[in-house]
Amino acid sequence: MANKWERYLRQQIELGGAEVVLSAAVGRSVGQAVTTEPAARPPDRPSARPSWRKGCPPIPGPGLAVESPSHVLDDELVALGTLEDVAERIRTTHCCALCPNRTNAVPGEGNPQARLFLVGEGPGATEDAQGRPFVGQAGNLLNGILEAIEVPRDSVYITNIVKCRPPQNRKPLPDEIAACIPYLHRQIEIVQPKVILALGSTAAEAMLGVRRSLAELRGKVHTYNGIPLVVTYHPAALLRNPNWKKPTWDDVRIARQLLDR
Ligand code: URA
Repeated sequence: MANKWERYLRQQIELGGAEVVLSAAVGRSVGQAVTTEPAARPPDRPSARPSWRKGCPPIPGPGLAVESPSHVLDDELVALGTLEDVAERIRTTHCCALCPNRTNAVPGEGNPQARLFLVGEGPGATEDAQGRPFVGQAGNLLNGILEAIEVPRDSVYITNIVKCRPPQNRKPLPDEIAACIPYLHRQIEIVQPKVILALGSTAAEAMLGVRRSLAELRGKVHTYNGIPLVVTYHPAALLRNPNWKKPTWDDVRIARQLLDR
């Protein structure tokens, strides 16, 4: 009898029913041998039902639909054909008052064919020192979040609204955003991602062209030039307030589902 149950439970686990079956029946019926089964799954075998799906919120309804203003991209920017061309332009140009004070510009990095495109606010001290986005504490947390939704960091593209560090990590000013955002628009045009994830209110407001609270902008699927755009908390905000981790977890799983759609 025990063998029959064990076979059944193993089959359920294979089919992706592990959480349901394990929470309801295992332990009472077949004990440890089966409860440890998911952990023993070979790492190179994709799980039939990834753990991020457990309690996953449904994809919410539509929010704002924005188109990037056509005047934002001048001919010179349109002529930049690759991400590296854009990065080189950013590194060699001063477009606002932030640029002269940078150690390094931080154009962005990642996979040119990324399906997920992440947008933060602006480089911090570590990013300014290294010329790479999200490599400090907030970046470590972001890496963990990506890992949890089974999206390798090297598969995504990550950049910021402004490419040079604002002094004392203050929020970028409207004229600094206006001067820098054309680069972001061009980067998105080149990558053509399937989903955009805006990290924090500066990124969300700048991309959607509105002044609204994060609470108002979360929980909807906006579109930017037809690309689904999900808004969530900035990882640095999560370091300050761990209560925002759960809503962030929900938001990123919405983005994850959109990738699968
Ligand atoms: N915060 C951001 O918004 N961007 C970074 O690259 C790092 C921290």
